[in-house]
Amino acid sequence: MSQLEEENGTVAAVERVNWTETSPQALYGRLQTLAGNLWWSWHPEVVALFRDLDPVKWRQVDHNPIALLKGMNPEEVAERVSQMVMITRINQAHRRLKEYLSDTERTKNTWGGHNAGVLGSKPVAYFSAEFGIHESVPIYSGGLGVLSGDHIKGASGLGVPLVAIGLFYDQGYFKQHLDVDGYQQEEYLDTKVENLPMDPATGPDGNPITVSIDTRTGTLLAKVWLMRVGRVNLYLLDCDVDGNSPEDRELTSRLYGGDRRTRIRQELVLGVGGVKAIAALGITPGAYHLNEGHSAFAPLEVIRERMHGDGLSFDDALREVAQRTVFTTHTPVPAGHDRFDAELVEEHLGPLREQLSISHDQLMGLGRVEPQNEQESFCMTVTGLKLSRRANAVSSLHGHVSRRMWAHLWPWRVEEEIPIGHITNGVHIPSWIAHPMQQLFDRQLGGSWRGHLEDADMWRGIYEVDPGELWETHHALKSRLLEFVRRRLSRQCRRRNEDEAAVEAARSALDPSALTIGFARRFATYKRADLFLQQMDQIAQLVNDPERPVQFLFSGKAHPADEGGKSFIKRIANLRHDPRFAGRVVFVEDYDIDVGRHLVQGVDVWLNNPRRPLEASGTSGMKVVLNGGLNCSILDGWWAEAFNGRNGFAIGDGTQHVDDAITDERDAIRLHDTLVEQVIPCFYDRDADGLPQQWIAMMTESIATLAARFSAHRMVVDYVRHCYVPAAGGLSSEMP
Ligand SMILES: *Cc1c(COP(=O)(O)O)cnc(C)c1O
Repeated sequence: MSQLEEENGTVAAVERVNWTETSPQALYGRLQTLAGNLWWSWHPEVVALFRDLDPVKWRQVDHNPIALLKGMNPEEVAERVSQMVMITRINQAHRRLKEYLSDTERTKNTWGGHNAGVLGSKPVAYFSAEFGIHESVPIYSGGLGVLSGDHIKGASGLGVPLVAIGLFYDQGYFKQHLDVDGYQQEEYLDTKVENLPMDPATGPDGNPITVSIDTRTGTLLAKVWLMRVGRVNLYLLDCDVDGNSPEDRELTSRLYGGDRRTRIRQELVLGVGGVKAIAALGITPGAYHLNEGHSAFAPLEVIRERMHGDGLSFDDALREVAQRTVFTTHTPVPAGHDRFDAELVEEHLGPLREQLSISHDQLMGLGRVEPQNEQESFCMTVTGLKLSRRANAVSSLHGHVSRRMWAHLWPWRVEEEIPIGHITNGVHIPSWIAHPMQQLFDRQLGGSWRGHLEDADMWRGIYEVDPGELWETHHALKSRLLEFVRRRLSRQCRRRNEDEAAVEAARSALDPSALTIGFARRFATYKRADLFLQQMDQIAQLVNDPERPVQFLFSGKAHPADEGGKSFIKRIANLRHDPRFAGRVVFVEDYDIDVGRHLVQGVDVWLNNPRRPLEASGTSGMKVVLNGGLNCSILDGWWAEAFNGRNGFAIGDGTQHVDDAITDERDAIRLHDTLVEQVIPCFYDRDADGLPQQWIAMMTESIATLAARFSAHRMVVDYVRHCYVPAAGGLSSEMP
């Protein structure tokens, strides 16, 4: 045996001894390692491991394993581990994480290792203003953030080289509760940095990174955190540092708070600061993905790098940087496109503009549809479109809408030639599918289904699943949801100091056998959460039908400045005072990923009734599919391309009227009619065994036709093929 082999042998032996070491410190250390990478959050066995350490505390700490471990000492943990015989589970989870993170595993055994080679040493830099990864990391507000979280988890699973850049909000988005009148109250809580799975990011020299950004009115500083999300490093910029003014220290405290000036400063930190952070980390990206216009300043800083590093002219640098830049637009709603006036732009981009050797008018022109039009403000979406070679919308219908919306940017082109394609959104299956459903698939699809989430053929195996077993699994999930909702409702009553009778009523609210319809999302007014109320008396009849009752679960936050959205919440929440709806139409406060997960896993039907065509994609309905729920939706966003007549329900036929009031009135009637004519009869039509065979066939068809197509894995594969690889200089392939 050579000395080297002997040494290796020794190392291996030492490792083996370490593995079985059960000292409290060793166990505690392994649990801390697991808690330090958000990989645990999409592995139900690992979640269960933390929960089993102390189920009560687990709930109290909002499912945060770092906080949980801080509340126990190593001896207590060891005691519990031996009581519950958890040692093997801990070691297994720890070993799986280590293997998952190893380089050889990624390059040899992942899709990205084989298909994203050109990105190997030059990863994608993915920018987003919010990331929704888990409820214990509150740096998201809604669909955009959850999509970003699902995108990076998908990239991690596929082994696609990618780093993500965002902002760290120490107060995040608000916690919601309703006052006695049903009016939304917002509360901002400080997140304890030490309880999050992140550390200061360090540069090649091992020192923590701080970036500085010059403005006309002073220099902004931001430190950089590293959060680990499986194989993906998420870098979060944070302005709470010494050297910033007290006001600037709070710049990144809250998500989507503050005025226009706060907003442009946040976006400056995200875009320009983000690119500086990447440089300080020693990373050279092969492609830049601007997820939404918030980060559209980023290419300007990359252009500066190229001009100063490689001596390029502004025009040449712009051309090269645009070639590497991918831009995704997310909404046709005008308020969703940030605009800034000339003074704000000059104050914040002035120093950078001088380094780019361009005039103020030239800079403003990049953010205007008509560059010379001084009446036009600076639009981040326009900037994103002009500074990227590849741009996309987030569903097929949204692609059409976006091409029409931005056609005037390319006046010489016909609409079909407007260079905006589409890549439809998808959801990260392991994060949204309930554990019992996974176990059912383990039994029925074979153990390797998890490695083939984007493979439509694999999902066809669902046709072989026993209908009774699928229905039973769904029913168990529905019971779990109703338990969760009752617990939340009684807590809401107690917080409002209501009497014991009310708390008791909340504990027995809802009927486990009734058709249960869920609606949860941001309460933006175009999503029309209140649409069903236009048919209030008819809906009351459905809710009170003694044979075939229907019940509704609502949840969602309105933006603090959106009085319209808040009034929707109030109307719906106050239905609890109407005897026709009490205990049958309920509002669950403080919508977040946790509430969302429970709802999508347990409802029979997911209701989606936006004003077409304003829902660019929508993703919550995709999460429902995985758990056997059926969609009942306006033909907007993803549903316009997903619905095939057998995999769910369509409200209306996709027509819209120029007058919103008429559209709303029509859609309300169509919603009611769809429920009465299709959804309710199908759900209550039972065979001799009490099974709704037709309904179950629809659940099966929904999973078979939609799970793969609307998965984050399919989405990330599309981005790699159509955007990232060509942007990084690999072979091009056309976007739809
Ligand atoms: C999935 C999700 C959303 C997105 O909902 P839409 O259907 O796109 O409106 C919003 N918020 C949370 C917490 C989610 O999990």
